[in-house]
Amino acid sequence: GGTIGILGGGQLGRMLANAGSAMGYRFVALDPTPDSPMGQVSRQIVAAYDDMDAALALAEASDVITYEFENVDADVAAKLMERSYVPQGSELLYTTQHRLREKRAIEAAGVRVAPYREITSEDSLRDAVSAFGTPCVLKTATGGYDGKGQWVIRGEDEIPEAYETLSRAGTQLVLEQFIRFKQEISVIAARSSKGEIKAFPPAENIHVDNILHLSIVPARVGEDVIAEAERLAVRIAEGLNVVGLIAVELFVTEDGGLYVNELAPRPHNSGHYTMEACRTSQFEQHVRAICGLPLGDTSLMSSVVMVNVLGQHVEPLLERLAEGDDAATHAGIAPKVHLYGKKDAVFKRKMGHVNVLAPNVEAALQWIEETTIWKV
Ligand code: ATP
Ligand code: MG
Ligand code: MG
Repeated sequence: GGTIGILGGGQLGRMLANAGSAMGYRFVALDPTPDSPMGQVSRQIVAAYDDMDAALALAEASDVITYEFENVDADVAAKLMERSYVPQGSELLYTTQHRLREKRAIEAAGVRVAPYREITSEDSLRDAVSAFGTPCVLKTATGGYDGKGQWVIRGEDEIPEAYETLSRAGTQLVLEQFIRFKQEISVIAARSSKGEIKAFPPAENIHVDNILHLSIVPARVGEDVIAEAERLAVRIAEGLNVVGLIAVELFVTEDGGLYVNELAPRPHNSGHYTMEACRTSQFEQHVRAICGLPLGDTSLMSSVVMVNVLGQHVEPLLERLAEGDDAATHAGIAPKVHLYGKKDAVFKRKMGHVNVLAPNVEAALQWIEETTIWKV
């Protein structure tokens, strides 16, 4: 038992609370939005993430504290660590909230990232672009998500505008060589406070407009790529002294080479498939890891495709659910719907996801294609 406090009250917190409540834990969220997705299923302190009094109240109310996003203010993290137990520590946050620090840490763990350079001026950008050739990708070191805070430079004439635009964010910049990947995959590994490590099966990820659309499991890559990706994730979990989950996004090249793109020290959208398809979900695993429990079995029980439900998909999905689908049931397809309780179904906003369990990933993909919900 005990109470787990979570910095952030979005869908990741909500799913952590749902999994952990079943294990007998109580939860409290700190989130500025009243009636947040997590607040609907647990207690919530309604305040800004950098509100020190609220952080103290969270520490007071919690036996263990974790977070559902990595951009946690360093002062808040320090304050929480003083007053409560934060098994993930602040080092992991410090590393993963900054692309340059993250890349250096991955390399120090002996794992390859896309070639990169720190950019400190427009001239240094010009030098780096001519070294890497075009296209190449300029990214802000902090704060980016869903492809925001990056610019694919397709020609040298774009350099001034790219530099000017991304510099406005006021953070450091990094230029990456463009990896002509064949596929993108991700591996989520967990390391417990006792040092035990387990990886989930890699997911093959398909993005639309820089937002994750599908996670396909098993990933359609060779056995050797699967094994190597899991090994790299374990090496990163060890090297970065991770406690809790670490999501590792990777590029797979034509010849099966692997480059790490980026990390996230928390449950990851590409790990939602584990909720019904694995013996242990990523959310249960995170609770186990931070509470010092033995880690759960990560084996896959069924082929699955996770498809995200964005604002524009909610209405067609609800209509479809009301109709029922006997044909799918006969074909062994079970779409498991998860909605996060967000009120305004804004275009492109993540509102939920569906884990489509099926005899094989082709059948799941076909069901997704035929339902037409995701055509918009
Ligand atoms: P997320 O929502 O996953 O946090 P993000 O904004 O942090 O996204 P990245 O994951 O770094 O951004 O990049 C977004 C996508 O852009 C990647 O999934 C990949 O498709 C493409 N991309 C990023 N960097 C490169 C690269 N060096 N070479 C080729 N494609 C890239
Ligand atoms: Mg990211
Ligand atoms: Mg990413």
